[in-house]
Amino acid sequence: MGNSVKHHPSLSLLEQFCDGSLTAEVALLVATHLDYCPHCQRLSKDIEADLACSFATASAPAGQDDWLSMMQQVLAQPENAAILSVPANDPVVKNLEVGGHDFELPRALQRLSSRRSKWLTLGGIATARLPSGEPHHVSLLFIDKNTAVPQHTHKGLEMTLVLAGEMEDEHGKYVPGDLIINTPDDTHTPRNNSDVPCLCLSVLSAPLHFKQGMTRLLNPLQRFFY
Ligand SMILES: [Zn+2]
Repeated sequence: MGNSVKHHPSLSLLEQFCDGSLTAEVALLVATHLDYCPHCQRLSKDIEADLACSFATASAPAGQDDWLSMMQQVLAQPENAAILSVPANDPVVKNLEVGGHDFELPRALQRLSSRRSKWLTLGGIATARLPSGEPHHVSLLFIDKNTAVPQHTHKGLEMTLVLAGEMEDEHGKYVPGDLIINTPDDTHTPRNNSDVPCLCLSVLSAPLHFKQGMTRLLNPLQRFFY
C-alpha cells in the first residue's frame, strides 16, 4: 500500500460503534473507515469479542446452547445494526460519476448512494446529500484538483472521511480512509492541492459558519453545505 490511513477513529468511538450506541450517521462514517482500515477492523473484532465475553459472563449461566447462540448473535454483526438502513432491494452503486470523474465507492456506501440527491456544484466543488436523520447532515463532497473549500468554522461537529484522492488543511494531509473530526473551535480551509479530484463523505451536526469577509457572497454556499 502506498498511502496508508493515518487518521483513525478514537478507541472510544470504535467501542461505541461496536456496542451500537453511535447515531446511525456517525456509525456510517466509522463503518466506511473500516472498509479502508485493516488496523481498525482488527481492533473492532477484538472489542466485539470482549463485548461478547462480558455479555456472556454477566448473564446468568443459561444452557450452553443459549450461550452459544447469544455469542453468535453478537459476533455475527459485522456491521453496526444502527447503520442507516436502505431497503435491501435498492440497487448497489459501485461507481459514482461526478465532475467528469469516476469514483469507486466503498462497500458501506454502495446501497445508500442510490438514494443521493442531485449534485449541486459551485466552482470546483460539488455536493450531494445522502439520507440522514436530524440533526445530522450526511453528504458526498467532491473537490476538484487544485480547489479549496472556503474557510469556515462549525456550530457543531464536522466529520470528514476521504474516499478517493487526497486533500489537506492547516493540520495535515489526508488520504483515502482518513477520518477528520473538527469541533466548533476549529477553523480550517480544506483544499485539494493535488492533480487528481477528491471525493469525501461528510457528516455535519450543525450548519457551517463562514468566517471571511465574503460571508454574504457565501451565504448560498452555506445553505449548499448544510
Ligand atoms: Zn483505522
